[in-house]
Amino acid sequence: MKSCFSEAGFTLVELLTVLVIVVILAAVAIPKVISAEESANSAACIQNQSAIEVACTLYASRSCLKEIGITGFPDALSRLVPEFLESIPDCPGDGSYTYDRDEGTVSCSETSHNR
Ligand SMILES: [Zn+2]
Repeated sequence: MKSCFSEAGFTLVELLTVLVIVVILAAVAIPKVISAEESANSAACIQNQSAIEVACTLYASRSCLKEIGITGFPDALSRLVPEFLESIPDCPGDGSYTYDRDEGTVSCSETSHNR
């Protein structure tokens, strides 16, 4: 009569050992991956804010507008498209941008994305 258990294969202790190692590696790696993603989103968001602010400064310094009496930063970010920006970038996270026309600055609703 044939045995139900084959001689080849892994023992329960071997399988549990491998499982524990995999769980430990996952516990170490997953938080680092999540942290790296958030750090990358924050850096990209800050870069987006800088690009918008540079475009606002260029808009404000445009000499042809000064000649017709328009000075200062644009009244809406949409005025920057397409001459100064191809499009208004979005926050790579879940945030949204707030534009301060008086200062020509942009801030993100995600506090960790602000300078
Ligand atoms: Zn953001």
